[in-house]
Amino acid sequence: AMAYVSSPTIKPINKGVVHKICAGQVILDLSSAVKELVENSLDAGATSIEVALKEYGEEWFQVIDNGCGISPDNFKVLALKHHTSKLADFPDLQFLTTFGFRGEALSSLCALGNLTVETRTRNESTATHLTFDNAGLLVAERKTARQIGTTVTVKKLFSNLPVRSKEFSRNIRKEYGKLISLLNAYAIIAKGVRLVCTNTFGKNMKSVILKTQGSGSIKDNIITVFGMNTFTCLEPLSVSLSGNCKVEGFISKSGYGSGRNTGDRQFVFVNGRPVDMPKVNKLVNELYRGMNSRQYPIAIMNFTIPTAACDVNVTPDKRKLFFSDEGSILQYLRVALEKVYSPNFMTYSANLVE
Ligand code: ADP
Ligand code: MG
Repeated sequence: AMAYVSSPTIKPINKGVVHKICAGQVILDLSSAVKELVENSLDAGATSIEVALKEYGEEWFQVIDNGCGISPDNFKVLALKHHTSKLADFPDLQFLTTFGFRGEALSSLCALGNLTVETRTRNESTATHLTFDNAGLLVAERKTARQIGTTVTVKKLFSNLPVRSKEFSRNIRKEYGKLISLLNAYAIIAKGVRLVCTNTFGKNMKSVILKTQGSGSIKDNIITVFGMNTFTCLEPLSVSLSGNCKVEGFISKSGYGSGRNTGDRQFVFVNGRPVDMPKVNKLVNELYRGMNSRQYPIAIMNFTIPTAACDVNVTPDKRKLFFSDEGSILQYLRVALEKVYSPNFMTYSANLVE
């Protein structure tokens, strides 16, 4: 029998609630929050970026850069939703070279925690300290001392999302681990950028977790992050793929993987943007397993793909990409990797025959 339910009225959701709902999709966890801030610093041309954490980020986190700073004309609209200096019109999406483009990060952070900004451009002799409310409105402004650049501080992330706030405290060590892996990705790919991460826990002194020199090559960055011993176990990779695409990077020689744990030493970039491409990881692992079934390879792969052929506007956190020709890129990659590993494939099959 049919159930008769009276039709409910459709009403708009309160604006503040909508803002909180959407913000929770852009900022998923500690690492996606810090990622947005680090990317803003890179977009601002910073050559030195420090990520400072208090209680592993649970209390607050801060990203301090020496980038171009924010001009006073922009203070009022800085943290408003969909306000950006990077994208003016939809077709511009095709020619995107910046990490950001949607003007959602700062506004989302306002909705999920307490945001303050200190900034100074080269045209100002003093810096300004700015406080924003949950809606992204500028509520206080005062002068302060600072070098040229920007410091963004977020206190008490997720404190107003009860479920996530509890999860955040409970999983803080895991969140922190994920953050370090993400910072390693930027430390590897960002050439000429000094990256430092510190944590202050309890009454302890500030401890340095990661520190790179800002060298000019990916090779030197890998050596800084993983050490020389690890680097000598890697094979350089430079391959042309279909449709004006190429991939460059480093991959474990056979027999020199990084143990059972996959993921924490595999980094995939597209045009210098750290992304998730599970199909690439899967392919690399599968081919590697042909020679070394006990370990996973280290892989650092930067794909160069014409910006018009890939769409980064797929998920709110921009980690997923949509390619016009993913299938053939993967096919070319497979052939190339099989070549890299071919002498070992031979040995491997010979062993099987014996
Ligand atoms: P998006 O990066 O997509 O533009 P955000 O909300 O992350 O959106 O940032 C909004 C705007 O604030 C940016 O377009 C940029 O102009 C400015 N901005 C944010 N962070 C910085 C920074 N560290 N240095 C200089 N400008 C910044
Ligand atoms: Mg941004």
